Amino acid sequence: MKVCKICNIEKQLEEFRKQRRQCKACIAKIRSESPKDSSKLYYQKNKVKMYEYTKKYREENREKVNANQNEYIKNKRKCFDYSDEEYIKSEESWIRSAIEKYLKLTNKTHEKLKIKNTDRNR
Ligand SMILES: [Zn+2]
Repeated sequence: MKVCKICNIEKQLEEFRKQRRQCKACIAKIRSESPKDSSKLYYQKNKVKMYEYTKKYREENREKVNANQNEYIKNKRKCFDYSDEEYIKSEESWIRSAIEKYLKLTNKTHEKLKIKNTDRNR
């Protein structure tokens, strides 16, 4: 006699396959309930379950999730602001030096033009 692991009924050894703790009836039942292409079905069921679980989790922990998201956005923004500021600073200094160079050049050309103009006017 052997006790089936699934139905917990003590059955004759003939009711079991070799080295199996489940009786033939239980194995047959499991097989009929789970056809070969059950993996897809299981996946779909699981997908829905997972979706419902995450939905439930979000609803139950809405504040927590929101806080996490806000924190994430803050951190991201901080990081972005910082790099943006740095970028603007470097850009500003570059533009300033460029403007100074340009002004120097134009001043020189202006002076030259002035000289030329005054020469013409004479
Ligand atoms: Zn059984």
